[in-house]
Amino acid sequence: MQRLGKLIYPAQCLTCDEMIEVTRGLCPTCWSDTPFIVDHPCEACGRPLIGEAQEGDLCDDCRAHPRVWDRGRAVMLYSGNARSIVLRFKHGDRTDLAYSAGVWLANAAAPLIVPEMVIAPVPLHWFRLLRRRYNQAALLAARVAKIHKLTYVPGLLKRPSATRTLDGMTAEQRRETVAGSIRLTEKRAVKVQGKRVLLIDDVMTTGATLTQCAQACLDAGAQGVDVAVLARVDREG
Ligand SMILES: [Zn+2]
Ligand SMILES: [Zn+2]
Repeated sequence: MQRLGKLIYPAQCLTCDEMIEVTRGLCPTCWSDTPFIVDHPCEACGRPLIGEAQEGDLCDDCRAHPRVWDRGRAVMLYSGNARSIVLRFKHGDRTDLAYSAGVWLANAAAPLIVPEMVIAPVPLHWFRLLRRRYNQAALLAARVAKIHKLTYVPGLLKRPSATRTLDGMTAEQRRETVAGSIRLTEKRAVKVQGKRVLLIDDVMTTGATLTQCAQACLDAGAQGVDVAVLARVDREG
């Protein structure tokens, strides 16, 4: 019945109305407008390197400010159709996008995968979780863990609810208050001790949040941390 259904109803492109032959894919136009990162990513942050690059090379940013994590990969640059994919996924209740995006992310992260790796999402800021019903990073992380058959720990990095009101604070103070709260409890630390952790997020801009999360894992005794994101914001791009 399922095969028959596929024959009768063509699938729709993930980001436009175009009908396509494969389910959960992009039409050729949307595909070519999505800046997938294919060659020579920076080993630490996943952005594409310009010019002649060797495997393991770092971008200028990562060379100037070494990351606390080891290696990083990104599926695409945050521009063109990639922006539309991320925004629909984030704000449009298009949780179905996690299926395809998760496959892309699992492929991009493949070089980082080691046995017994622990997969965890970057937690949503608590004040955002109030407005949204899901954490898009967690949906992606669950897919990546399933595809690579690794342990998925959705609540590894929890942000505790605010213990004091943020009213009257400047934006900067709010950020610091919330940022400083990423810790692993003893019970959760046991899950990462002596293991490598792969942190998953939807978008990496400066990498500040990933830095806090990676540091929290290392402080808890993780052997090392790698990161994989759906989209990388490239300031030069
Ligand atoms: Zn399309
Ligand atoms: Zn880099």
